[in-house]
Amino acid sequence: MILKLSRPNPAVLAALEDLGCRARVLTFPFGTFVVALGLDPSALAAFQAMDGVAWARTAGSRPILAAREQCPEGTRVPLGAIEVGGETLSLMAGPCSVEDREQILTTARYVAAYGANALRGGAYKPRTSPYAFQGLGQAGVELLREAGDAAELPVVTEVMEPGDVAAMTPFVDCFQIGARNMSCAPLLRAVGRSGRPVLLKRGPSATLAEFVLAAEYILLEGNAQVILCERGIRTFETATRNTLDLNAIPVLKSMTHLPVVVDPSHGTGLREAVIPMARAAVAAGADGIVVEVHPDPSRAKSDGDQSLHLPEFRRLVEELRPVAAAMGRRLDLPDALPFGGTQIPLIRRAMGWGGSR
Ligand code: PEP
Ligand code: MN
Repeated sequence: MILKLSRPNPAVLAALEDLGCRARVLTFPFGTFVVALGLDPSALAAFQAMDGVAWARTAGSRPILAAREQCPEGTRVPLGAIEVGGETLSLMAGPCSVEDREQILTTARYVAAYGANALRGGAYKPRTSPYAFQGLGQAGVELLREAGDAAELPVVTEVMEPGDVAAMTPFVDCFQIGARNMSCAPLLRAVGRSGRPVLLKRGPSATLAEFVLAAEYILLEGNAQVILCERGIRTFETATRNTLDLNAIPVLKSMTHLPVVVDPSHGTGLREAVIPMARAAVAAGADGIVVEVHPDPSRAKSDGDQSLHLPEFRRLVEELRPVAAAMGRRLDLPDALPFGGTQIPLIRRAMGWGGSR
């Protein structure tokens, strides 16, 4: 059973304790809830009638906390200088894998200069083949942090094991849950407890209902800072790596109050398809784009075929600008996009562009 409180009433918790139920109180910007799982549904009516209880529901197979009705105005997730789900389009960019200091620093500085508001990069990589590059692990997390600090960007990186969350938390602004782990309940609970925002990627064969229920696990730990990411699903089509399901954007927005971003890199697997599908995603109402960028994609240790070259990231931003404007979204960019090689951070500061951790 889940109760929504309209005001605090200690008698509610006392009554639950009398029934032998260990209840948890969750406080979100959109309300205070009591989670009392395992209670007999016959108790519902009595709680419904109690003072301070707005409503009581039996918890079934549908999301409650993530449901749109809990926060019709939409949740905004703070990330660095912006709020994902707010007016500014979020642009999370960086290599598939953190490979070395120079690679991640170069990418970070470039994408920061051209309007990215978060740096993404994998240190723990969920590769299909166990023989493929598995990532630099914690050393990669720390390199990503260093690059994020140098470019004044918050960092997003994937965590694959619940046991890694604690060691990663001090270095990470937002945890990514990869598509392969979308329904790993222990991992969802662990990032839920981390207190950090979570970028939750849709499983390649997950329905939207299953996707939102995965987010519900995170909210049930008291963390509503969840960003949903459509990254393509598996279909009969083989010309692309996945099929980017842009239906997900409006449908998720009607199902939940969580922001929705789109990853056209994994959604297509093809560099030349990334920019057109990013434009389409923004036109369909996405709150942001997650995109893979590499200084030399031909030498990338993972996902080189779908990674943009640095100048292509600049082109992406330029092509998104009119689409974002048409959708009433801001892109935090100067009017003229300069490129000054190693001077980018200086130019960036001189122009007073935003950006913080
Ligand atoms: C990634 O972001 O590099 C990644 C592994 O994505 P996904 O989990 O969507 O496959
Ligand atoms: Mn990748």
